[in-house]
Amino acid sequence: FGRPWTFIRGVPSLKFLPPEGPLEVAFAGRSNVGKSSLINALVSHKGLARTSNTPGRTQELNYFVPEGYSGEAGDLPPMALVDMPGYGYAQAPKDQVDAWTKLVFDYLRGRATLKRVYVLIDSRHGVKKNDDEVLDLLDKAAVSYQIVLTKTDKIKPPAVIKLLADTAEKIKKRPAAYPGIIASSSEKSEGLDDLREAIAQTVGI
Ligand code: GDP
Repeated sequence: FGRPWTFIRGVPSLKFLPPEGPLEVAFAGRSNVGKSSLINALVSHKGLARTSNTPGRTQELNYFVPEGYSGEAGDLPPMALVDMPGYGYAQAPKDQVDAWTKLVFDYLRGRATLKRVYVLIDSRHGVKKNDDEVLDLLDKAAVSYQIVLTKTDKIKPPAVIKLLADTAEKIKKRPAAYPGIIASSSEKSEGLDDLREAIAQTVGI
């Protein structure tokens, strides 16, 4: 993570996916959960994933790799980060939700190089109904996932501890859930090293 990262492509449908190569970790979460901020903070690159997009607009899988790699076959980076489109936007029309579900489910089911999905949960809200639906999708696709609480600076430390325990309880029977939950704040640069370490371990670097 110590080097610059770059955007290589946006994938609106599966035929635009880069050839399978580097191991991938993906980031999912409700619109406004702080996903862009967390990805930017993770790689110390402010403008990489665009923050404060109009919620629900970016319906693409966005691929990031360390600078200097194209992501094409024969020029393989050590890993790729995949920013999944946000979900749970209240005003999203049904066909947009259906398109999201299809793109994401096809990707989850078909991508052998995808090692883990980090599912971001806003500390102020906890796991909401549409988060649960996404966890169902991940369990069904049998893709390993780990919960990351975001914006922990917005709630008091004891509330973070309670939320960690409540969330652990909620996911403990879920088959594809990784048990450890990471608490993070992009604003205060907290939990970033925990997340970097978890990702490095996941992809074996
Ligand atoms: P995305 O839609 O999930 O990509 O969310 P963004 O990263 O664009 O963040 C949504 C809003 O939450 C923005 O106004 C951010 O400034 C704010 N935000 C993101 N991360 C944090 C955080 O760790 N702490 C606080 N207090 N605000 C945050």
